[in-house]
Amino acid sequence: MSAAATYARLAAGDAARRVAFSVAKRRAVLARLAEGIRAREAEIMAALAADLGKPEVEVRISEIIPVLSEIRHSARHLQRWARPRRVMPTLAMLGTRGTIRPEPKGTVLIIAPWNYPFCLALGPLVSALAAGNAAVIKPSELAPATSALIAALVKDTLPEDLVAVVEGGVETSTELLAQPFDHIFFTGSPAVGRVVMAAAAKTLASVTLELGGKSPVILGAGADVKKAARMLAWGKFQNAGQTCIAPDHVFVPRAMEPAFTAALRAEIARMYGADPLASPSYARLVGARHFARLKGMLDEALSKGATLVAGGAAQEAARYLAPTVLTGVPGETALMREEIFGPVLPVIAYDDLEAVLAQIEAGEKPLALYLFARDRAVIARITAATTSGALGINVTLAHFLHLNLPFGGIGTSGLGAAHGRWGFAAFSHAKPVLENRFAVLDPLMPPYTTFSARLAQA
Ligand code: NAD
Repeated sequence: MSAAATYARLAAGDAARRVAFSVAKRRAVLARLAEGIRAREAEIMAALAADLGKPEVEVRISEIIPVLSEIRHSARHLQRWARPRRVMPTLAMLGTRGTIRPEPKGTVLIIAPWNYPFCLALGPLVSALAAGNAAVIKPSELAPATSALIAALVKDTLPEDLVAVVEGGVETSTELLAQPFDHIFFTGSPAVGRVVMAAAAKTLASVTLELGGKSPVILGAGADVKKAARMLAWGKFQNAGQTCIAPDHVFVPRAMEPAFTAALRAEIARMYGADPLASPSYARLVGARHFARLKGMLDEALSKGATLVAGGAAQEAARYLAPTVLTGVPGETALMREEIFGPVLPVIAYDDLEAVLAQIEAGEKPLALYLFARDRAVIARITAATTSGALGINVTLAHFLHLNLPFGGIGTSGLGAAHGRWGFAAFSHAKPVLENRFAVLDPLMPPYTTFSARLAQA
C-alpha cells in the first residue's frame, strides 16, 4: 500500500477514535503490545544481533525494557494524564467554566533511526497510542532485520486501523513526509531533522525532533577518576558508541589525565576483556559506510599527532572497531568537529575550566552534557552556566531510563520532548474549552459607550 493510501486509511478513523478510543481501550492496546513483545523476545534478540551484533543483555536493557517500562508507566498514569482539567477563572472571566481537555492529535508519523531501532520506534508509539492517536511507523532501513520484526509484531498484535508500519529508505520517508500527518515524531540526525521540519512546514504538522550532536563531558578538579572512568566506559562503549547520548569527548584537568586514562584502560579491560573482538558483551558497527567513516576519523587524528591510549584495532569484515581512547586530538580534526557516534573517545587535557565552558558555549547545544565532580560549587556553576538537552552529574545514559524526566534536545540537538507525560503531551492537543455560565461580557460589545463611560470613571 502506498504512503498516501496508508495515511488515508488511518486518518479516516480520526473522528471516530476521538470519541471511542477510551482510556480503557488504549490500555488494552498497550497491554497487547507488551504481550506481543514478551512473546517475541528471542526474535527481537536475533534481529538486533543480526543488525548490530547487540549482546542479549544490552538488547534487554536498552531496547526491550525501556519500551515495556514506557507501557507500564503510561498505563499506570494514563487516567490522570487524559483527564480534562478545570482551571480557575480570571477576574475578567468570572461566570465562565474553563477546562483543558487533552485530545489526540489524530494520525501521526514516527520515523526511527538504526542505532536503537526497536526502542526508538516503539517507545514513541507507546506515547502516541496512550494519547489516543493512530500511527504510522517508518523504521530504519539500515537495521533491516529489526525493521521486518517491527512490521510483523505490529501486524500480529495491533489493530490495522490503528498502527501501520511502512518499511523503506529515504524515498519512502519522503513520500510519507508529504502526507498531512497531524504530528511527526522524528529521531535521527540534525541534517535529516532539517528535511523533516521543512516537510512539516508544507503541511503545518507539529514536530518532535530527537536529534544528535556532540555530547561533551567535563571532569571537575575533585572528580573520582575511577568512578568517572567506569561510567564513561559504559556510556561510551555500549552499542559500540552508536548512542545519541553517548559521551562524545572528555575534558579532564591536565594533572588528572594520566590517572584518568589509566582508569579508562582498566575499565575497558574489565568490561570487554583483553581482546574486545572476542567479547560477547561488545556490539558491532552498523555497516561498511559507518566503519569507513570512523576508521577515517581515527586515522586522520593519529596522522595529525593524536596519541593512542587504548584500542585502535579495526576489522572491516567484522564491522569491528575496538573501544578506543585518544589523547592530544587536534581541534581541526573530524573527530573534534563531527558527532563521533562510534567507540572512539578523545580525552582533552585542560588548564582552565572557564575556557572549557566557553568552548562548549561556542559549539552547538548538546543533547547531553556530563559532569563528574564532587564540589557542590563546581556542580552549581556548571549547571547554571551551560545549556543542553539534559545534564548528567556523575552518571551517563541513565536519564534516558528515568520516565519522570523529559527526554529531548535543544537547538540543533532537538525540539520537544519524549517519555512519560511529556511523550503523552507531544502527541496531544491541549484543547481549551470555555463555557459561558453567567459571565457578563456586554461591556466588550459595541456600541462602546458603556465601556468608555467605565474607563472615564476609572
Ligand atoms: P538519519 O537521520 O540518517 O535517519 C533517521 C531516519 O530518517 C531513518 O528512518 C531514515 O530512513 C530517514 N531518512 C534518512 N534520510 C532521509 C531524508 N533525506 N529524508 C527523509 N527521511 C530520511 O539518522 P541515523 O543515522 O539513523 O541515526 C543517527 C543519528 O540519530 C545521530 O545523529 C544520533 O545522535 C541521532 N539519534 C538521536 C536520538 C535521540 O533520541 N535524540 C536517538 C538516536 C539517534
